[in-house]
This record gives sequence, C-alpha cells and structure tokens, in this order.
Amino acid sequence: MIVAIMASVYCYFINRYVMIRDFLLSSNLGAIVKYPQEKRKDRPTLENEVAQLKSENALLHTIITSLPGLVYWKNTDGVYLGCNMNEARLLGFSSPDEMVGKRNADFLTAPLAAHLDALDQQIIANSEEVIVEEKNVDDPSSAITYLSHKIPLKDSSDRVVGVAGVSFDITERKQMEEDLKIAKEEAEAANIAKSMFIANMSHDIKTPLTGIIGISELLTYRLKEDNLEFAEALLTSSRQLLTFFESCLEISKLESGDLTTSIETFELEELVDAIEFLFQPAIKAKSLTITTHFDKKLPRYLTGCRAGIYRILLNLIGNAVKFTPTGTIQIHVTLQEMSLPTEARVQFIVEDTGIGIAQENQKRIFERFTRISPSYKGTYEGHGFGLYIVEMFTKKMGGSVEVKSSIGQGSQFIVTLPFQVQQASEQAKLPAAKKIRNVINPKSPIKILLVEDNIVAQRIQKALLTSIHCDVDIAESGEKAIEIFKPGFYQLVFMDIGLPGMQGDIAAMQIRKMEEGTSHHVPIIGLTAHNVDGNDNDFTVTGMEHILSKPLSREDAIYIIGEYCSGAH
Ligand code: ADP
Repeated sequence: MIVAIMASVYCYFINRYVMIRDFLLSSNLGAIVKYPQEKRKDRPTLENEVAQLKSENALLHTIITSLPGLVYWKNTDGVYLGCNMNEARLLGFSSPDEMVGKRNADFLTAPLAAHLDALDQQIIANSEEVIVEEKNVDDPSSAITYLSHKIPLKDSSDRVVGVAGVSFDITERKQMEEDLKIAKEEAEAANIAKSMFIANMSHDIKTPLTGIIGISELLTYRLKEDNLEFAEALLTSSRQLLTFFESCLEISKLESGDLTTSIETFELEELVDAIEFLFQPAIKAKSLTITTHFDKKLPRYLTGCRAGIYRILLNLIGNAVKFTPTGTIQIHVTLQEMSLPTEARVQFIVEDTGIGIAQENQKRIFERFTRISPSYKGTYEGHGFGLYIVEMFTKKMGGSVEVKSSIGQGSQFIVTLPFQVQQASEQAKLPAAKKIRNVINPKSPIKILLVEDNIVAQRIQKALLTSIHCDVDIAESGEKAIEIFKPGFYQLVFMDIGLPGMQGDIAAMQIRKMEEGTSHHVPIIGLTAHNVDGNDNDFTVTGMEHILSKPLSREDAIYIIGEYCSGAH
C-alpha cells in the first residue's frame, strides 16, 4: 500500500519535475540537469540508468523539500507520507523525514486535527479538489490564515490513495482586504455625509437666494430711474449667483457619480416641447423664432435617461438662445439608425444663426470653466459649465457630441444618443401628454391659489402675481389647500412641492380627485427648490401640468398664465 502511495506521489511530482527540468534546460541553469542526460548517451547501461534515476530522484527531493509555502501529502488514513521543509518546521520538526508516519493528532490539538482530517476525508470520498481558506480553529484570536489547495492523490489506475495539499500564508493579504473593506465603508459613509451636507446646504442657500431674487424682481417694477437700475443690477447678480450655484452642484454630483441617470420611458416630443416652453419668455424678449422638426419615423416613446437628454437639450437650447442676438433657432430630431427592432440611435441638432465659434476654440468649449467671451467682458453671462455638462451626460449615456460653427454664421451642435424602443403594442398603452387650456373671463382678475409654506416666498409671489392682475389666495400647507379648494373656483394653482406635512404632489392628486365627476380641470404648476431635471414626468403623473424651478420669475408667471389661462390675453 505504502509503495502504491509513494508511486502515486512520485507520479504527481514527476510531472512537475519534468516541467521544471525543461525550464532549467532552456535556461542558464541547465547545467544542473544536463549531466545525467549526457552520461546516458555515453553509457547506456542498467547501472547508468539506476544512477540517472537516483540523480533525478535526489533533484526531485531537493525541489520538493525547498518548495515555498507548505507542501504535504498523506494516505487515506491521514498518515503523513511526506512534506516540504516549511511544513516540517511549522509543526516542530527539523526535517520532513520526521513527519513521515505521523498523523495530525500527533502534533495538533484534537479539535484542529479533527477539523483537518474531516476535510481530507471529504476530498477522498468525493475525489474532488478543494480550495479553502483555513484558520486555526483552536485559537480564534490567531490572525493567521492559510489558503489551501488540496487534491485527491491517485495511483496509475486512477484510484484515490490519499490527499496532497499546498497551503500559503495569506494573513497579510487578508488584513489588506479587511483594511480596504473598512476604508470603503468609511468612504461610503463620508460620501453619504457629503451628499447630505450638499443637499442641506443647497436648500439653505437656495431658500434665501430665492427670496433675494424675488424681492429684487418686485423692486424692478416698483422703483424708478436710478433706483430701478440698482434693483435691476441686484436682480441680475442674484440670478447669476443662483445659476452658478446650481451648475456647481450639478457638476459635483456628476463627477461624484451621485447624479441619477435612471432609465424611464418618455414621450420625446413632449420633452422637447417642455424645454422650448421654458425658453419662450427669453425667445419672445429677443424676438427670435424657434422651430422644431421631428422625423416622422421616430417612435413616439423612447426608453432611456430622460433626465440626461433633458439637461443636454436645456443647455444646448439655452446657449442657442443666449448666443443668438437675432434670427432663428432650429431643433432637428431624427431617427438615425434602428439597429434592432428595439434599439434606436437618435440625432438631435440644435442650430442657431448666432455669433458662432471660431474653429480654434471649438474643442476647448467643452472643457470645464471655458468661455470664449469671458464674463468680465460683459456681453454674455455664463460660467463655462453648460457644454461640460452636455459632454458628461452624453458620454454617460453612450452617445457623442460635436459642433460645427463659424464666426458670424451661427452654430450647430449635434448629439447622437442610443435609446431603447418600446414595442408598438406597449407604446399604445402609454398615456399621451396633456395640454390644457382654460378659458376665463378676460375682464376679471385671474383667480390663483398659491400653495407655499415660506412666509417670505408667499409675500413675494403674491406681490408678483398681483402686479400682473391676479387675485391670489394663499394656502400655507397642502392640507389647507385641500380645505379651501373648490372645483371651478380657481383658474390656476401654483403648488410648492416641498411642503411640510402633505407634500405638494399629494395635494395635487387630492385636487384631481375633488374634480372627478365635474367638468373642471384647474392647471396646477409645481414649484420646486431643486433643479428641474426632466424628472418632472413623475410629477405630471400626479396631475400637475408643469414643474418650474424656484424662484418663479415675473416673465415665467406671465408666460404660464398666458399659456394656461388663454382668456388672460
Ligand atoms: P456658458 O454658456 O455658461 O459660458 P458653456 O459651457 O455652455 O458655458 O459654453 C462655453 C462657451 O462656448 C460659451 O461661453 C460660448 O463662448 C461658447 N458657446 C456655446 N454655445 C454657443 C453657441 N450656440 N453659439 C456661440 N457660442 C457658443
């Protein structure tokens, strides 16, 4: 039996020996193993064969003894048949020969020996190799961990005759893994704390800033001459500060990966309309024209990152409006490719007849903070964030962006993005976007319900709306709004979304419930302290027509009332 096991162990290691010998022969160390081969050529006698085998055996023995890690092999009864020097020393012996014939129980505690023997028996029974991390079960405080690879030892007729194993001390690596895990947990906790800090700071800075913007806007139509100029300067500066602050927040979120790019199904035409809508006041003020061309082949609904495409178009159309003193802005949306029945590449072109961008600057404009006409030169406001945000979102969504432009001729920004497409049957189930017009008596003031909890914001918005011929009732909470709302009484509701107690979206749903069974449908415009990022789709589900970012400007209010209360003109 012992002879069979020895033969098996010999076979196991002889293969490795041959590999090592071949390696040595091909290297400078070849001299060590060349000798027996040369001898064989000279004297092919039995004596020579024996000498050669002895020599090879000695070499094999030397290699195994000095192998790194712990190497050991045992028979099916758990009796050691051999090991390397490291294993012998670890277990208190001065040479591997002293280990032969011993069992785990001879030098390990009973529980540890039983634990190791049980694993050996499992390997023998299943005839399967095992890779396992092993700790000293006797001493849980001992930090030493071994990574062991144990195999069933087989003889020439493939019978399992024992177990051979190699173990490496991986304590340091385990400690590193543990340290990394702790560092990762700490980094995650710090990241959550940072996000919470940013969210709180965002709210704490935006609320008073919104108040400053509102009051300065009120002053611009209450003051005259010199004082009016000061008020206008105050309004411009506070708006710039708010835009800058919002861009910083957005970039910080984009770079830290905090910005959600959740996938949803949306109606593309409705999304482009919503963005156009936001720019209507500025377009009217500059007497520009804007037209949108939709490819008839485009599917009505697309599935993708709605917030991403919203931010991309918001920045591109915003720039087109900003950098075009006169002329037109055209938006082309084309189906570029339908690679599978369910995948589409859509191209968005935002084209203007504005000031244009010189060839040498066209790469630079996508870099953070880069502005071709810096703010200290005064003509155009901005912080050089917009196109950086466009490029970041485009990359995140797996698309591309390029610019074609020449000075004085206008610019063309071309964005191509991949989307998923719903099956026609699925598309039919999705709700169509609503557009509501409310006919009112133009001679009487427009009845508005303003739902707002912040006292400063209440006063500012009431004054602003009153100045454009609205009769405003205030509800300081969602609950109060439900209490005073009567279907058919108000022509428009401005609803703060972040209310204490009943949130604005819930109050909007309650209003829709109250209207059920009546012929009334009041337009509800949500106001949020957060950036409107295209996820306003979630709110339109609650029954709101639109979501606007606070503060509500006079221009926006006039435009909204004009759009939704057509009798107001
Ligand atoms: P911002 O508009 O805030 O300055 P952007 O990153 O959006 O920042 O744009 C960077 C620069 O690229 C702008 O300052 C402007 O010089 C140039 N630019 C962007 N869009 C246009 C455009 N449609 N027409 C002319 N110049 C543009």
